[in-house]
Parts: sequence; C-alpha cells; structure tokens
Amino acid sequence: MSETQVNIAINGAAGRMGRQLLAAVAERPDTRISAAIDAPGQASIGVDTSVLSGGEATGISVVDSVADALTNVDTIIDFSAPAVTLALLEVIKGSDKRIVIGTTGFTDAQLRTLEKAASDIPIVFAANYSIGVTVALSLLAQAAKALGDDYDVEITEAHHHHKVDAPSGTALAMGNAVADALNRDLKQCAVYGREGITGARDPKTIGFATVRAGDIIGEHTVLYAGNGERLEITHKANDRMTFARGAVRAAHWLSTQSAGLYDMTHVLGLKQHV
Ligand code: NAD
Repeated sequence: MSETQVNIAINGAAGRMGRQLLAAVAERPDTRISAAIDAPGQASIGVDTSVLSGGEATGISVVDSVADALTNVDTIIDFSAPAVTLALLEVIKGSDKRIVIGTTGFTDAQLRTLEKAASDIPIVFAANYSIGVTVALSLLAQAAKALGDDYDVEITEAHHHHKVDAPSGTALAMGNAVADALNRDLKQCAVYGREGITGARDPKTIGFATVRAGDIIGEHTVLYAGNGERLEITHKANDRMTFARGAVRAAHWLSTQSAGLYDMTHVLGLKQHV
C-alpha cells in the first residue's frame, strides 16, 4: 500500500450510498477506487463505476463476487445489509484488508460477531458518518448529565420510505449516548412506539418515534422535556454526500491503524484509543 494513496473497494456500490461513496472517493487525491461490488443479478454488474457515480470513467467494472475483487484493495467501504457485511468479514478474516462499515440494522448477536472480527481486522463502524452527528452524540451526553433524571427524554427520527430498519442506527446511538450518561441500560429503558392505554409515562424510560416518508435523507431530534422548559437537539442531513465523505475520511484514517473496533470519534481525534 502506498503511504498516501488508499485503494478502496465499495461493497453495495449500486445502492443509494454506494453511488455517493464512489463519487466521494473520486473527490480526494489520496483515495482511489480499486473495486466495486454489488449483488448478483443487479443491472449494474459489468458497467464502469462512472455510470453509477456520474463521474469520469475509472476502468473499474462492478462485479458480483467479492472473493475475486480484492486483490488490489487496501480498504473496503461497506454500505449493504447486515448478513452481507458479516459474510464479507468472513472473507477478509486473516487477510491484510481493512473495512469501514456503514450498514445498520444488526441484531445483538450479529453485533457480537462484528466485535469479535475486530480482534483480527481494523474496523471503523458507525451508524452515522456525518461530522454533525458525531458532535451531536457528545452534546447529547453532556446535556443528559446536566439535566439528569428530572427531564423526560424522547427521540424522534425520520427517513425515506425505502429504509428497512427502525429505529435508525443513529437514533439508537443517540439513545445509548443519553442512557450511558444517565447510568441507564437502553435495553431496559427504551420504549419503541406507544399505542392504546399505555398508562402514565415512566420517567426512567427513553421513548422512540419513527417516521418513514418520501425522500427524507435523515432527521433526528432528541427532546429533553422538564417542568416549564424543553431542550431539543436536532440534526438534519440534506445530502448523502455528507455520510459518504465521512466514510471515505474514515477509510483513509484507518489505513494506518492496527486491528480493533473504531468509530467516528476516533477518526475525528475526539477519542484516542479503542
Ligand atoms: P440500498 O438498498 O440503496 O443499497 C444497498 C446495496 O447493497 C444495494 O445496491 C444492494 O444491491 C447491495 N447488496 C445487496 N446484497 C449484496 C451483496 N451480497 N454483495 C454486495 N452488495 C449487495 O441502501 P442504502 O440506502 O445505500 O443503505 C445501505 C445501508 O447503509 C443501510 O443499512 C443504511 O441504513 C445504511 N446507511 C448508513 C449510513 C451511515 O452514515 N452509517 C448512512 C446512510 C445509510
């Protein structure tokens, strides 16, 4: 691997994020597309990646088999689906490949498999690669610590109608940031939607509400409601390129890291160690 140029494969290249990732890699002088993979049967298999990204021809065609695609690759950026990501981790185990994972919707058991894989593979895993959300996670913990148990916490998120998991990985990360700051376990205190005669709100809970509509890229609000006042911390993504640029930045940063599980706070230098 050259010291400055990182050779990148995009897994899920034909997806909404995959196309943006191809464009984000092309934007930087220190990253290059070396492979692009999508599912067998996709219309984009065999076409040059520029057809997906709208950029200049790369000479790299989209392939449907990861095993043959990784020869000249340093780092894979994966925005696909949980089972696909885990299969990919199996493929690269014992190799010198690194991986940036943007896929969300993992079960607890799948997350444990991913964490185990990081003992052998350098992995960045974040539910949201935007800088704004990474900063918001710190602000949320700070606000929760200061406001304490007297303020009810509710999290609302909205995404486009194609999204398959709910609540979003980002909403869960926000819930975990608040729960940790309040010494609660999100698994015990989360309430995912309400219906019927629910009774009065238990003050120790953290509520989640999900909207799926149209082409909303991603909006999250954490509400802290006390007696006589409300604080809301909101993040709105206007463009998927914000996630794509963050993920490519993570891929470049990862090129000098050893095996371990990292997130965007490490990439941005907000946290030093795994
Ligand atoms: P999408 O459905 O548009 O794209 C997924 C792509 O993966 C598709 O092109 C699909 O064909 C491909 N795929 C399926 N099976 C495959 C296989 N076996 N090998 C290779 N590719 C395969 O979805 P999307 O909107 O691009 O989102 C993808 C994932 O990224 C979701 O889990 C989403 O929640 C997540 N996401 C994360 C962030 C973040 O910042 N972390 C941001 C946006 C989306």
